[in-house]
Amino acid sequence: ADTTASDKTWIVAMDTVFRPFEYTDESGNFVGIDVDILKAVAEDQGFKYEIQSLGWDAAVAAVQAGQADVLLAGASITDERKEAGWIFSDSYYDSCQIFAVKGDSTVASLEDLKGQTVAVKNGTAGAKYADSLKDQYGFTVDVYEDSPTMYQAVILGQAVACVEDEPIMADNIKTGGLDLKLVDGTQSEGAPYGFAIMNESNQELLDMINAGLADIKANGTYDEIIATYVGE
Ligand code: GLN
Repeated sequence: ADTTASDKTWIVAMDTVFRPFEYTDESGNFVGIDVDILKAVAEDQGFKYEIQSLGWDAAVAAVQAGQADVLLAGASITDERKEAGWIFSDSYYDSCQIFAVKGDSTVASLEDLKGQTVAVKNGTAGAKYADSLKDQYGFTVDVYEDSPTMYQAVILGQAVACVEDEPIMADNIKTGGLDLKLVDGTQSEGAPYGFAIMNESNQELLDMINAGLADIKANGTYDEIIATYVGE
């Protein structure tokens, strides 16, 4: 093995509040599926890393600027991102985007959003999905910095709906007691999650990540991590 490579501490840029993939628990620890997968993959492959919990768009910007080596934030693998220069690992989870409305809302379909405002999180697949539908369904899109402020916009009535990854909103509604409900039938096509690099010289890291993902999927560690956070 190349000792220079194995001594390197890789900088991993992550979201801040994206439960159950990354969030701070009651004890103040930064935890989640992404955090545990990273730990397991790094142990399996013997590489060192440092987590920078920056928020979604700051994490994206840090990798683009070369200030971080890899993005790990429930990042959806899309053709558009690949065309923009992102290089993804193998996938580790499947997700789609979905609309959610306040618990007592009468909105039941995209047609009901005519003339309304929809909250999205800056630079996300959910924002892209809302943009792709706004002309057809006649709604306006407002951009928020992170998931909690996007949810609050709906709860406080500044927007009628928000759009995000289905497993994230489902978890926040269930475990966070968020006063939102998912709108059935508004799902996007699914897109899997991957780690992502921009700089080709980090391919060595991506290779280790892919090898580690294959190992933890084969030895049961991956299933244990998912069961810990998704359960039931
Ligand atoms: N999966 C979504 C995306 O890739 C959201 C990621 C996030 O907000 N951390 O755009």
